[in-house]
Amino acid sequence: MKIILLGAPGAGKGSVAKQLNELYGAVQISTGDILRSAVQEGTALGKKAKEYMERGDLVPDSIIMEIMEVRLQKPDCKNGFILDGFPRTITQAQELKVIIDRLHIHLDFVINLEVPVDVILERLESRRTCSNPSCQEIYNIKRNPPAEGGTCKKCGHSVIQRADETKEAICNRLETYNSKTAPLIDFYQNEGLLKNVLSLQLPETIAAIKKELNS
Ligand code: ADP
Ligand code: ZN
Repeated sequence: MKIILLGAPGAGKGSVAKQLNELYGAVQISTGDILRSAVQEGTALGKKAKEYMERGDLVPDSIIMEIMEVRLQKPDCKNGFILDGFPRTITQAQELKVIIDRLHIHLDFVINLEVPVDVILERLESRRTCSNPSCQEIYNIKRNPPAEGGTCKKCGHSVIQRADETKEAICNRLETYNSKTAPLIDFYQNEGLLKNVLSLQLPETIAAIKKELNS
């Protein structure tokens, strides 16, 4: 399985990718997770990315493409991958096309996760994330709360609200999505790769994706 997950912030890309990883063994590649780890570890990449991320702006395309060109050549990608949060601009999508052609990678399709905007806002405001860079498990204070004392059920680290999950940064991320990322829907429609899937409940979403994979 070699697929791209598209969708607004809060559309459920991370949860869908984790589930597909468990089902199919395809590696989840999340540029957001890679960048957050780099910020927490204070690497050179993290120092460059931090301010953009905290404002809810996109990290420059050149930085993202450098990371992804290396990442897509790692051996674990041979068994399949799920790109979660990448590409996010037309430039990234065009450059990705060149890279995968050169590496002889065949993309199965691009899943566009569709969610009404009020659901997205509610999800983002109640979302919490494990602070352990190598875990980053996602919780929801209403529907899927962390363990007693706000700790991660998987690794025990504290569960926090991301710096870009203030109301202001959330609005900025949604605007950025609309202006920079939503045009990818047409881009992949024209490439003949797009599949639209409603993303409300995880089991139904996964079932719909399975159906596309088998068709
Ligand atoms: P979400 O999908 O919930 O907005 P992500 O974890 O995918 O969150 O991304 C968090 C932040 O990381 C983004 O707001 C952006 O600053 C940066 N980022 C992640 N992926 C990319 C990308 N492909 N291009 C540019 N910036 C990115
Ligand atoms: Zn954790």
